[in-house]
Amino acid sequence: MTKNDRGSLVRPTPLPDSASHPVVTPLSPSVVYASDTPDMLDAQYEGDLHGYTYSREGHPNADVVAKAIDRMEGAPHMGVLCSSGMGAVSAVLLGLTKAGDHVIGGNQLYGRSLRMMSEDLPRLGIETSMVDPGDVEAVRAAIRPETRLILVEVVSNPTLRVADILGLSALARETGVLLVVDNTFTTPRAFRAFDHGADIVIHSITKLLAGHSDVMLGYVAARDQAINDRLRVFTVTTGMTPSPFDCWLAERGMLSFELRYDRAQSTAMRLADHLGSLQGVKRVIYPARRDHPDHARAEALLKGQYCNMVSFEIDGDRAAANALARGAEGLSFAPTLGDVGTTLSHPASSSHRALTAEKRAELGMSEGFFRVSVGLEDPDALCAVFTAAVQAATA
Ligand SMILES: *Cc1c(COP(=O)(O)O)cnc(C)c1O
Repeated sequence: MTKNDRGSLVRPTPLPDSASHPVVTPLSPSVVYASDTPDMLDAQYEGDLHGYTYSREGHPNADVVAKAIDRMEGAPHMGVLCSSGMGAVSAVLLGLTKAGDHVIGGNQLYGRSLRMMSEDLPRLGIETSMVDPGDVEAVRAAIRPETRLILVEVVSNPTLRVADILGLSALARETGVLLVVDNTFTTPRAFRAFDHGADIVIHSITKLLAGHSDVMLGYVAARDQAINDRLRVFTVTTGMTPSPFDCWLAERGMLSFELRYDRAQSTAMRLADHLGSLQGVKRVIYPARRDHPDHARAEALLKGQYCNMVSFEIDGDRAAANALARGAEGLSFAPTLGDVGTTLSHPASSSHRALTAEKRAELGMSEGFFRVSVGLEDPDALCAVFTAAVQAATA
């Protein structure tokens, strides 16, 4: 066997020539990329030539997804993809801080973000304060000379309160603190965070952007080039970069994102009003409703797009909640959101189970409290499912 023969056994057969090109992004699982010469590789590392080297450092499938979200968000530099939304949150909270710094977070952040703020940052010598992001004066009072950043979500989970993003961005500019917006719930379809003064934008692509509950992925981008670079280097160093296949799947899901968002959002509006008309429903929370405590702010910030999440409360205990979940035929009772199918979640037994019943009551989350992530079902059929489920629970 000659040297060349042996080589041919372990190298892929070159791709056949084609004058035409694929209409779908090819999947590039290659871990390494070969350059022609040391000079060329050197030029790539120097940034004089664009080229991939090792896929933890970057690969085409990640860049394609990042650029699509950059376009929607109006990001000034190419965003960084992470293997999950929590990867993106971690890149910001751990990659931009050091011992002695102070960080402020919204007091109703996503559960794991809250956990990182309350457990992991303090362990590393980074102090944290949780504050109501709808109360700018309270946030101002929490700022210290060593405060590095403020992390907020536009619409909180599951009580759907709306943060005072304009007030916070003015405060952040005034005090030189970075404003970080987790835009997962609202998405760039309803809210472009950079346009409203955010310094850094985070997404769990897992949710609405990818939209099919079959891939976990995160995104983070910063307005400032140096901060954006630091986020990328931290993500690469900690190995939080995503797999090409996950990026490829996410890109496929994102092609229909805008259609899905608009449909889910308009059905959510409809479902909120329907729930409000049902006997046995004590309270409906949806930012487009006039009875929502932050309605005016939601109208000003979300430009009529709101979100696909609706929360509601029925009279009743755990048995009634069980009856409602069982009665919601065809819907998944599952702790996620943004799927093509409507999902139902129950904070008292999932996201907020660690709290005492008293604390939950204080936050307005009784055993009868449910959160709905509205999907793409026929709106009439979906309303009928909720009519039956609420009847089953409150009969
Ligand atoms: C789900 C979620 C995250 C975390 O994203 P994963 O992809 O599940 O890691 C962060 N923030 C918000 C608002 C979320 O809903």
